Order: sequence, then structure tokens, then C-alpha cells
Amino acid sequence: MSLRLQLSGISKRYGEGAASVLALDSVSLALAAGEFLVVEGPSGSGKSTLLSICGLLESADEGNMRFDGVAVERLTAEQRCGQRRRSIGFIFQHHQLIPAMTVFENIAYPLVLNREPRARIQSQVELIMDRVGLGARRNHLPKRLSGGERQRTAIARALIKRPRIVIADEPSASLDHQRAHECLTLMRELNTEIGASFLIASHDPFVIGHCDRKIILRDGRLVNGAAVV
Ligand code: ADP
Ligand code: MG
Repeated sequence: MSLRLQLSGISKRYGEGAASVLALDSVSLALAAGEFLVVEGPSGSGKSTLLSICGLLESADEGNMRFDGVAVERLTAEQRCGQRRRSIGFIFQHHQLIPAMTVFENIAYPLVLNREPRARIQSQVELIMDRVGLGARRNHLPKRLSGGERQRTAIARALIKRPRIVIADEPSASLDHQRAHECLTLMRELNTEIGASFLIASHDPFVIGHCDRKIILRDGRLVNGAAVV
């Protein structure tokens, strides 16, 4: 089995002294290529911290992490940033689209940052806009979209560069059931089509019911880390 991410004894503390919080306590975890993994746990259990570390947005205080077999601790800040831009897509609860950019421009943005040629950007964005059903919304600003359309734009933006990993932090939490299910179904289809591994924080039973495997965090510790369902 090819492993996309391997975490071994990862700990993360916020703050110092008596007021500090141990957000992650020696977490070990493997994410396989193409796997669709859900992290469940109450608010404050460390889900977002785990996703930030896996997405190379934050560094752990202790432990080791390998991304496609490469030790992340050995990378320079610049190399980590490059890896994040090339290989990781992010989907957040509140979509975090850029308000002044249209649907097309928001989806294109990761490719613009990667300095892809214009013609390629144009064709790739057209393809994925059709794929997620946003072709007719291409020139709309985010404020003129419905909640479901915004989240589909965010999904398209995360997948446009065909990332190795997609990090999704409570992606359906601000949507009604119907829209949440549509988004999950779309993420699952893109997971199969593109082969990206997904690491998703969620409480949604529908999301949990459609994942390959679920892990549970409590107070920064993995409750069922070793179990492969
Ligand atoms: P979850 O996503 O499961 O709600 P988080 O990873 O956001 O959990 O938070 C885990 C713990 O770390 C919580 O106690 C939270 O208050 C704390 N925490 C998270 N981020 C920060 C931060 N930037 N500074 C201080 N404490 C933080
Ligand atoms: Mg969170």
C-alpha cells in the first residue's frame, strides 16, 4: 500500500506555561493514496490542528511526518510552501473564496499562483466548472452564489491542480442536509476520478457513512488510531 502521509508521535501545544493547551498528544496515523478518511471528535478535540499540520500550514512540536515518503521536518520553509501549493488542496467550512474574484477567477487562482500557462488555466478551469455544474455562474462574485454553489466553487478550487491530498475542515457544516450531501457526493466522485487522498474533519453522519475509514480524536489523542474499518 502506498502511503501519502505518515504521522508518528505528533504533538502540538499552543501557548506556554499553565495556560497552554496540548492540542495534539502523540498522534500516529497513516493516510493511504486515494483514501477518504474522516476525523471525528467534539469541538476542541484537535481536529483542525491535525488538519493544519497535515496540510503543512503549521508545524508539530514533536514527532515525525512523511509526505509521500519525504520527511517534512527536513524541508526548508520554502520547500514546504512549494509542496503545499503543488500538492495540497483545502476546503473550509466557510468556503473562504476571495470576495472580489468571480467563480472563474477563484477556481483559477491556485494555477495562477503556480504560474501555469494561460491557455492551460483557461481549459482546466472550463473543464472543472462544467464538472461541478458551475459553468453558468462563471462570472458571478461569491456574494451572488447560493451556499451550495459557493462550496462547489471551493471544491473546484481545491481540486483544480489535481492535488495529492485534499484537506477539508468541516466542509458541510454550514450547508443544509441536501447541499451537504451534494457536496460530499461530489468530493467522493472527484476522489475516485483524480485519486487524491482526502482528510476530512466532520460530525456529519452522512459524511462519516461514506468514508473509507473513520478516526476519533478526544482531547488531542487518537481513540481508534490503529483500527482500519
Ligand atoms: P477542533 O477543530 O476539534 O475544534 P482545534 O484543533 O481547533 O479543535 O483546537 C484544539 C485545542 O487547541 C482547543 O483547546 C483550542 O482552543 C486550542 N487551539 C487551537 N488553535 C489555537 C491557537 N491558534 N492558539 C491557542 N490555542 C489554540
Ligand atoms: Mg475545528
